Amino acid sequence: MATARLVIDGHPIEGEPGTSLLQAWVAAGLPLTENVGCMGQGVCGACRVLVRRPGERLAQTGLACETLVEDGLQVAFINLSRGSRPHPYDLHALGDSWDAIARIDELFPEAERCRHCGGCDSACPKGIQVQQMVNLAAVGQTYAAAELFDDCVQCNLCVAACPEHIDPAHLGQLVRRMTAAMTLRPSDLIMRLHELEAGEQPIDLDAPGARPPAPDAEDAR
Ligand code: SF4
Ligand code: SF4
Repeated sequence: MATARLVIDGHPIEGEPGTSLLQAWVAAGLPLTENVGCMGQGVCGACRVLVRRPGERLAQTGLACETLVEDGLQVAFINLSRGSRPHPYDLHALGDSWDAIARIDELFPEAERCRHCGGCDSACPKGIQVQQMVNLAAVGQTYAAAELFDDCVQCNLCVAACPEHIDPAHLGQLVRRMTAAMTLRPSDLIMRLHELEAGEQPIDLDAPGARPPAPDAEDAR
């Protein structure tokens, strides 16, 4: 297959078919000083990009580590959108689930103003039903909202897209934290921790893979 010619952040580059935008950028010898995170695993949301395909009027959002090179692509990295304002909270002070709706409303009063434009859904590179999450959280359906948000990588593209400044990514993070904080921890985990505490199940550091690889001489210097 022919090499793809594309432009990333104003740099004309050539990319091998089947490689990601991030790989093509690095292969072209261009420096990665921003938009760097997990380097290709699609879990950190740092390599946000706007991508426009030939003949298409509208650009689409995506992650450079998951979007493959195509001939004629125009790509621009997007800087982090920090949200409309900080939402400080103390999880331990949130009370119990009885107060969940009131707490969400206090912290994110804008959530009730969702105008159902779908901008957040279109912007999300993970295909999350962001709008539905916002609407569920606004009426206190925290478990259902948190579940929808499981695959969020905190790229904040939905934050940048929301005309009501709801900051959906931050709201999603809150409901996930709330449900984790207000739910009994998994019993297997608790039992294991108790066993470790009592010295009944010591960690065998000689087991295969239990120790990190020893640094080689070069790294140790
Ligand atoms: S929900 Fe928002 S922050 Fe999370 S992956 Fe989708 S666009 Fe990114
Ligand atoms: S972008 Fe904002 S206003 Fe539009 S659907 Fe999403 S949360 Fe609602």
